[in-house]
Amino acid sequence: MKTGIELDVLVAEKVFGCKVLRATDEGLSQSEYEHLRRCGPKCGCEGTSHDFWIGDECSFPAPYSTDIAAAWEVVKRCAIQYLTATAFHSTRRPTL
Ligand SMILES: [Zn+2]
Repeated sequence: MKTGIELDVLVAEKVFGCKVLRATDEGLSQSEYEHLRRCGPKCGCEGTSHDFWIGDECSFPAPYSTDIAAAWEVVKRCAIQYLTATAFHSTRRPTL
């Protein structure tokens, strides 16, 4: 898969758990559909946001595949998920 917005949206969805809204989703109002078609996918999460701020400009998704600062967020997220998973599901027992 090439770098770009499709990969960035996939990362937002799969790595960060974002509920991505797309123009192809069912049940959209006409205005929602037209907005998504014109502006592209957006974060549809409630209570949190996966929008990415560069100065005063807000965009979605973050440029995970092309910007090192955004890519580093993916590394940190994956590390946290790995450490959390191994801490709770480890079969190793401490030796006394
Ligand atoms: Zn989101």
